[in-house]
Formats: sequence, C-alpha cells, structure tokens
Amino acid sequence: MLDDPGGMGIYWHIEYTRTPERIGPIFREEDRTLTDLRSALAARLIADGAMGTQLQALGGAVDCPEMWNVERSDAVRDIHRRYVDAGARIILTNTFGGSEWKLARAGHAADQESLCRAAAENALEAAGDRAFVLADVGPTGELPQPYGTHAVDEFESVFARQVELLASAGVHGVLIETMASSAEAAAAVRAAKRACDLPVVASLTYSAGRQGYRTMMGETVGQCTEAVLEAGADVVGSNCGLGIGQMADVIREVRAVAQGPVLAKPNAGQPKLVDGETVFDEDADTWARRTPGLAEAGATIIGGCCGTTPDHIARAADMLEETD
Ligand SMILES: [Zn+2]
Repeated sequence: MLDDPGGMGIYWHIEYTRTPERIGPIFREEDRTLTDLRSALAARLIADGAMGTQLQALGGAVDCPEMWNVERSDAVRDIHRRYVDAGARIILTNTFGGSEWKLARAGHAADQESLCRAAAENALEAAGDRAFVLADVGPTGELPQPYGTHAVDEFESVFARQVELLASAGVHGVLIETMASSAEAAAAVRAAKRACDLPVVASLTYSAGRQGYRTMMGETVGQCTEAVLEAGADVVGSNCGLGIGQMADVIREVRAVAQGPVLAKPNAGQPKLVDGETVFDEDADTWARRTPGLAEAGATIIGGCCGTTPDHIARAADMLEETD
C-alpha cells in the first residue's frame, strides 16, 4: 500500500459508496444549448466533483448513499446545485452503487427502481437547463470469470437494467466510472449501448506502481482504453486513484490511443488518515492551479473525484477559462 498510494483512493471511493489540438471555445459557455450532449462533447466541458465526499460531510449513509436520493433528496439536490453553480456542465446521478448486485449487499435490491428514478429526478431538477446529467454507473463489486463467479453476460444484464432505469428517467448520457477491470468496463459499455441511444463515457481507475500506471487487475492504460473503445464507448478517460499530477500522465497514455473526447476526474491529491478520518491533501487552489495540465495532456472533460468539492470545481472553471 505504501508504494501504491493511489490504491487507497479507489479503495476509499468504492468502500465509502459501498496536447492534442485545443478543442472548442471555452468550458463555460453560458448560451450553449443543452439539447444535444453529443455535439457539446466536441467542446471542452467542466464536470462535477465528488458526491461521496459531500454526502459524508453531511453525515450521509455509508452503507447505501443511494438511499439519500429518496430519504434526503433535498441534500442531494443541493450538492448537485452547488456543482452546477460552480460551473459544472456535466453532473452525475447519485447512483455509483446503483447496480442490483451492489444494492443487494446493502439490503436495498428491491428499491433499485425507485432509487434510480429519484436519482435522475434530483439531478435533472438541479441541472435545469444549465447542465447535462449523466447516469453514474460504478463497479458491481464482483469480478468477471475467471477471477469471479459471474459470467460476462450476467454483468451485462445487471448493467443494462441500471442504465435502462436511468435512461427512461430522462438522463442525457451514461458515465461508467471507477472501473478496475477492462472486462467489467467493456461489459458495462456494451450493456449501456444496448440499453439506450445516449452517449456513453467509460472511465477507469489506475494506480502508480513500479511498472507504471495499472488497474488493480494489472492492466495498462492503453489496454483498457482500447477495450472500452472497441466496446463502443463515445468518450474514454480516467477517474479516482490519483491526484492531478499523475492523472495528467495517465491522460497522455489515454490520448495515445483515443481520438475523441477524453474525461479526467482526479482526486484532490492523496488520501491520508488523520485522526481516523480520510483527508485529501490538495486544497481547492492547489488542485485547480494544476487543471490546465490536464487539458494540455489531452483531457476535454475535466472534473474531480474523491476529496474534491464545489470550491475545487469553481476554481478549476476560472483557471481553465483564463488559460483557454
Ligand atoms: Zn473517487
């Protein structure tokens, strides 16, 4: 763990939630029409930051954050709204653990439909005509065969169900994130493509080790990026696991194989345990000052993951606008 601090970032994320050419005009274009995410993706976009960190700050349910979509929809909407106010033009539904396998472990499999529907309503209401809403799809917590017990087509059915519920509730696209296995990520992409006609973003999580940047399964950035592109992803990228400096390295590796839009959502530095609490070490200014490096590396959609706040996103939006 010591020479692999990024691993703790993804662990925390999963556990908590149980220069290419400069593209387009600017990140914050107030009059951009929000009717078509596909064409908006051709420009630069700011995405939101962490939801888990914000829920935790409010004392959110650690075993099943998705329950907050129903039980504390006011709080969830408020977090979404603060990201939109900060300049995010892409926000994610609070459904990271919204697959039936993940919900089953928290004892809420029977609530999947109502949780997903409420999550989409909360995000769409907060977004209004100012931001696109992407269905957030996280790992199931299982591994595909031969490492786990489920076949890849079982993963596809589980992901398809989650995407169908969110797509029918009116989201504008799908974001598959924090994936540590290219097989699971590709299964999610194929499922999403089958379940709806919306743009699909696939984002994997890497950590830094002696052999460079790898997923927990030991796969390289190039291998994973190729796998999700082949599965049909419209946008590829990376989130979690790394702070902003190392994320720029990863994005350069993504860029080596990807032509289209690329997403980057780094953590707010590295997690540290302080008095039993997880604290991330890059404050909003420090983090935001380095966001232009992500754009230079090839990211066209920039947001944050664990430890980032509306303040991180607001300062990043200012910084990116200035350097555009
Ligand atoms: Zn994260």
